[in-house]
Amino acid sequence: MRFWGDYHTHTIYSHALGTIEHNVQQAVKKGLKQIAITDHGFRHMAFNVRRFDFKYMKKDIEYIKDKYDIDIYLGLETNLQSNNGTIDIKDEDINNLDIILCGYHKLIVPSSPRAFFSFYLANQLPYHNKSDLRRGKNTEAYIKAINRYPIDIIVHPKYGIEIDVVELAKECKKLGVYMELNGKRISMTEDEVLAAAETGVGFIADSDAHKPERIGDMSIPMQWIDKLKLNPEQIVNLEKIPVFRSRKAKGL
Ligand SMILES: [Zn+2]
Ligand SMILES: [Zn+2]
Repeated sequence: MRFWGDYHTHTIYSHALGTIEHNVQQAVKKGLKQIAITDHGFRHMAFNVRRFDFKYMKKDIEYIKDKYDIDIYLGLETNLQSNNGTIDIKDEDINNLDIILCGYHKLIVPSSPRAFFSFYLANQLPYHNKSDLRRGKNTEAYIKAINRYPIDIIVHPKYGIEIDVVELAKECKKLGVYMELNGKRISMTEDEVLAAAETGVGFIADSDAHKPERIGDMSIPMQWIDKLKLNPEQIVNLEKIPVFRSRKAKGL
């Protein structure tokens, strides 16, 4: 069984080691048909890609795209920023993105002073961050985000944040958003992945590579798929090319 695409990879435009071309070369070597370049969103405090650099990333891709037999998508790993489901892109960014990922990261600039207390701090204060109340608010935040923006993939679900995995999976299934089986770590429990699978949600395996050698490294997702006996049909990039909702909405 082979994965046909890796849709979560980082480059020197945020804090990883490879250039876009290094990532693409490695993807070709691994036999992938598609790769997405998805550096950290604009409001990550430490590793953000700069809006200013986006045109250079586009140029880099334009320059190399005919050299390699692979589709190259330019996307972003956006950050969840508040209980209201705001993420760090503007509406006008959407047309510039071939694919949109969304995840929770600790070191982000919240979307408002209010969100600093109600979301940023609330998710980091001990005793509070694992409460049922927090879990409910975070799940709702993700649900609002995927309803408001054409997000394609929820990356590393539950990494650093409490959520109700099944509630989120149900909404993802409804909207055609994929839940990621991350190549560096899976933070959901086995029971949660199995319960999410029951909803019929699509899972996508990605490397989350921060160095070119790791592009296409799906060993952790593959172990989980084997161990939990997940239905290969439900893994949207296993032996097939996924349909992404943001591209579908653009008629692509
Ligand atoms: Zn991440
Ligand atoms: Zn990442």
